[in-house]
Amino acid sequence: MVPETSPAEIPVLRPRLPTADDVLPYLRRIDETRVYSNHGPLTLEFEERAALELSLPRASFVSAASGTAALTGAILASAGRASPQRPLAIIPAFTFVATVCAVEQCGYVPHFVDVDAATWSLDAVALARAPVVERAGIVVPVAPFGRPQPQQDWREFQNRTALPVVIDGAASFDTARGPEFLGEIPIAMSFNATKAFATGEGGAVIANDADFTVRVRRALNFGFFRTRESRFASLNGKMSEYHAAVGLAELDMWALKRKTLEEVVSRYRRAAADEALSESIVTAPEVSLSYVLFRARDRDEAERVQDALRAESIATRRWYGFGVHREPYYQNVEHGDLAVTEAIAARLLGIPMAPDLSDENVGRIIRTIRSARSA
Ligand SMILES: *Cc1c(COP(=O)(O)O)cnc(C)c1O
Repeated sequence: MVPETSPAEIPVLRPRLPTADDVLPYLRRIDETRVYSNHGPLTLEFEERAALELSLPRASFVSAASGTAALTGAILASAGRASPQRPLAIIPAFTFVATVCAVEQCGYVPHFVDVDAATWSLDAVALARAPVVERAGIVVPVAPFGRPQPQQDWREFQNRTALPVVIDGAASFDTARGPEFLGEIPIAMSFNATKAFATGEGGAVIANDADFTVRVRRALNFGFFRTRESRFASLNGKMSEYHAAVGLAELDMWALKRKTLEEVVSRYRRAAADEALSESIVTAPEVSLSYVLFRARDRDEAERVQDALRAESIATRRWYGFGVHREPYYQNVEHGDLAVTEAIAARLLGIPMAPDLSDENVGRIIRTIRSARSA
């Protein structure tokens, strides 16, 4: 008898960016202009169109080489490098490693703070009263899985503490819309291939403050602006024309891509409802379209579900590990009580997402979760 072939592995995320044919007309323009980076015409057009997509003034959007570069540039432009009086950067423990990398590159000593159980992010009101604020030079709240951060909360925080705030909104291009979420408090976004809106590698700083975004541009370009004199702490964090070419093609297909991802989300919601799992599956619009999460009741259940999915060749991922304080490199970083981060990180599992994830595979994933859960 021929052995039954095992079902093909379903990866946790299978992105789809514009094809070579989609990008080609833009690449031809690079051949013509012979401008390959340094704020070339494609980068400027990309910024203009992306700002329009977010309903923002042109001057509010500065492209970057990556989300981490965007975050670094935004920190340098708002707070500058760390000072001896205020050496700390306050960040939530429930985040991706990149948040910590960025503050360290600006000379800050990271300090991890716990998140709120309902929002999975920093509590601006509680933090404003915390003594650690006295030793901090910057606060970097995170929009976890793209859940956007209300500008108002952080404006009030800034008014009370006079501390600069930069939001790590890496995955929030599809979720942060309108003045509630886009305003004067800067947001760094990532266009890494794993994000819903992607250029391969890429990112942007967004802030409704034209003086600030000029400073970001300087910080991302060797401290130069108009002249070739370096006057500010900086890095090379610019987007190249090649990435802008992908970005322009991505913008061409963005409405369709969004719709396609929304259809997969609907498939998940229907399948979850059929199996009485609606409460346990977290999708857009609560999180970005690139994430579908299983929320377990406890760590045991999460592990049971993870094992059952693995046995079916279905991949899962704890996108933020068990909290960034559990990463070997950051295990000695100073932190407060992290009970909520520990509990949430243990319970949340990323489950597969792809623009072409079939009804059949969504059904398989949800049924596997259902049976592991009741086991
Ligand atoms: C993706 C991500 C980043 C990093 O962005 P890159 O473009 O990969 O540098 C930072 N923070 C969070 C929360 C992310 O999800």
